[in-house]
Amino acid sequence: MIEKVLPDFLIRLFAGPYVAGDSLEEGLKTARALAGESGVAATMDLLAEGITREEEVQEDFALYKKLIEAVGTDPSFPEALRPTVSMKPSNFTTSPLDRGPGNDARGSREHVTRLAALAKDLGVGVTVDMEDRHWTDFTLDLLARLWEEGYHNVGGVLQTRLKRTDKDLDRIPAGMRVRLVIGIYKEPPEVAYTDKKIMKQRMLEFGEELLRRGHFVEFGTHDEASIETFLTETVGKAGKGPEDCEIQMLFGVPRKRMIGRILSGELLSKDGKVPSVRIYTPFATSWPKATAYCRRRLAENPHMALYVLGNLLARITGRQRATRSG
Ligand SMILES: Cc1cc2nc3c(=O)[nH]c(=O)nc-3n(C[C@H](O)[C@H](O)[C@H](O)COP(=O)(O)OP(=O)(O)OC[C@H]3O[C@@H](n4cnc5c(N)ncnc54)[C@H](O)[C@@H]3O)c2cc1C
Repeated sequence: MIEKVLPDFLIRLFAGPYVAGDSLEEGLKTARALAGESGVAATMDLLAEGITREEEVQEDFALYKKLIEAVGTDPSFPEALRPTVSMKPSNFTTSPLDRGPGNDARGSREHVTRLAALAKDLGVGVTVDMEDRHWTDFTLDLLARLWEEGYHNVGGVLQTRLKRTDKDLDRIPAGMRVRLVIGIYKEPPEVAYTDKKIMKQRMLEFGEELLRRGHFVEFGTHDEASIETFLTETVGKAGKGPEDCEIQMLFGVPRKRMIGRILSGELLSKDGKVPSVRIYTPFATSWPKATAYCRRRLAENPHMALYVLGNLLARITGRQRATRSG
């Protein structure tokens, strides 16, 4: 609730820890640090929501091009930890499908396709994020088309919150990478589950099914019990191993201890291999376009506002505050 009433400048202040920088260079610096210091990869995302003008679409497109070129050519990333890029179809249209009837996402498909092509040439993976229910069909069609056109560097996302996902599993092209998440967008009960327990159970069920079908599964959650069950039970039940899956988390959510357990092989390891970990690493070049993302993160964790406020007060009063970990 707090995120609904806070003005934009406070949202920016409180949700700052979820954003990896306010320029492409800062975002890349964070991705390099994640690889170098923690041994985890990034999937980088430009925060660019609420687009209304064609010039903004062009700006975002140009920035994504730069991002893909930087990620694809930067020699400082070890190959196994080279970032991928995540993008939302709504970043590239002034006619978003969630803005009501008459909108047709014009331009979005073409822009995503051109970026997927550039990324393919440079050996960069792209994930098309899944937005709210108005975008589901559009995005699944786009993914199928990209795959058919040979862009096998592209992966998709499924939200277990949506009831339709049972059937949407069949729309993911054979062999495509799939990020599984519960889904962040609040959806009406006619189309979505409202009980988180069910959403999480479905993550395990769909994870197993996708693995069985031969997909690389990117399990996107901070729920430590779910991660543990997925790695210690689900992957094995599907007859798969560490090379068939990855655990993904959001930048700013403290899970150091869990990441350590995964990378040490405590939960799943075979022939010296362990599952990879990838951090969704968003950066902003325009804070108004980052506000929607920040509001969603604060909705997930309203305590963040108190935590940041506490740190601020401590700084003002000159007192040290214990840092968070794990
Ligand atoms: C890599 C990645 C990519 C994603 N991509 C998409 C997408 O394309 N489309 C989409 O709809 N959703 C996406 N999501 C969001 C996802 O759907 C969930 O909303 C989000 O991950 C929170 O759910 P959870 O599974 O972590 O479970 P929760 O039950 O929400 O959280 C589990 C634990 O983590 C803590 N936690 C969760 N979020 C935060 C936070 N922000 N700050 C601090 N602690 C937190 C909770 O307090 C709880 O203890 C993505 C998530 C990840 C990790």
